[in-house]
Amino acid sequence: MIIVMRQDASRDAAEDVARRVEALGLKPHLIFGEERTVVAVVGDDRRKDREKFESCAGVDKVLPILAEYKIASRETKPEPTVIRVQDLVIGDGHFGVIAGPCSVESEEQIMASARAVKAAGARGLRGGAFKPRTSPYSFQGMKEDGLKLLAAAREETGLAVVTEVMTPHHVDLVASYSDIMQIGARNMQNYHLLQAVGECDRPVMLKRGASATMDEFLLAAEYILDQGNQQVILCERGIRTFESHTRFTLPLASVPYLKSKTHLPIVIDPSHGTGHANLVPPMCSASVAVQADGIIVEVHPDPPNAMSDGAQSLTFSAFEETMQQCGKILDALGMTLN
Ligand code: PEP
Ligand code: MN
Repeated sequence: MIIVMRQDASRDAAEDVARRVEALGLKPHLIFGEERTVVAVVGDDRRKDREKFESCAGVDKVLPILAEYKIASRETKPEPTVIRVQDLVIGDGHFGVIAGPCSVESEEQIMASARAVKAAGARGLRGGAFKPRTSPYSFQGMKEDGLKLLAAAREETGLAVVTEVMTPHHVDLVASYSDIMQIGARNMQNYHLLQAVGECDRPVMLKRGASATMDEFLLAAEYILDQGNQQVILCERGIRTFESHTRFTLPLASVPYLKSKTHLPIVIDPSHGTGHANLVPPMCSASVAVQADGIIVEVHPDPPNAMSDGAQSLTFSAFEETMQQCGKILDALGMTLN
């Protein structure tokens, strides 16, 4: 960090700050400029309380240099993290495709979806059994019965099951039926839930909160990693902006940005990111082009009658076409499907 002293700060105040830096086991460098004095701190100050310096006499501001996250950082681990479950591979040139309905609704619906998405090339099956709904009167999911149906679909198809866990109390239950546990956007900063999945040995897909910054997103991932679970996938699912033509605004620049900062794989959710089925296929292609590590897409046998998110769900045939387009771009970039 760099501690900038106020213009009227005395030399004593700067030297006092330097002594406090030393007391933390870090090395201070005092730079007396013409206008101001600056204390440059050498050493890893991420686990130190930087804010304390802001209340020291004569201090104007404290500028962090190292990002707060550490285990998630590319500086700590330069090689990309790859997630492998069943036949699904995500990361380091492998483009993992996860598809299926927003919610598990019935045996018939999830089995038909699993067969269709597998035939089109997906190797992961999504489907919510515990649903975080904006209204308490909306369908809340089939709960454990839904988890059982997902496990049966995996049994038949070999697809890796991705499903959401909403509370620490359900982590063991959801882990026992699924291959990847999803943390939804609304729970990105539910720190007890992050720690609970961090103690588990299942991979976790962490969705970006609708108003979370990149640093907050990476720090949420850090909570999981810090508990010992190294298998974390980041999911960009769009953020809330002033724009209302799309359900959320889907920033694809998150992919190259995150890749420059972290070794964790990044998947895109163009379904929640746009909210409209006709916008989903081009955003799937764009996700490949920007070299994301995968996509998670909502697909339903009968979108107009879906119990949740029908407007953004692809039909089986639209998903098949989408996968063909993605395949061409994957080939051109020398990437592998799943
Ligand atoms: C979902 O995947 O169906 C979902 C609820 O997503 P999000 O948490 O991104 O809103
Ligand atoms: Mn949904």
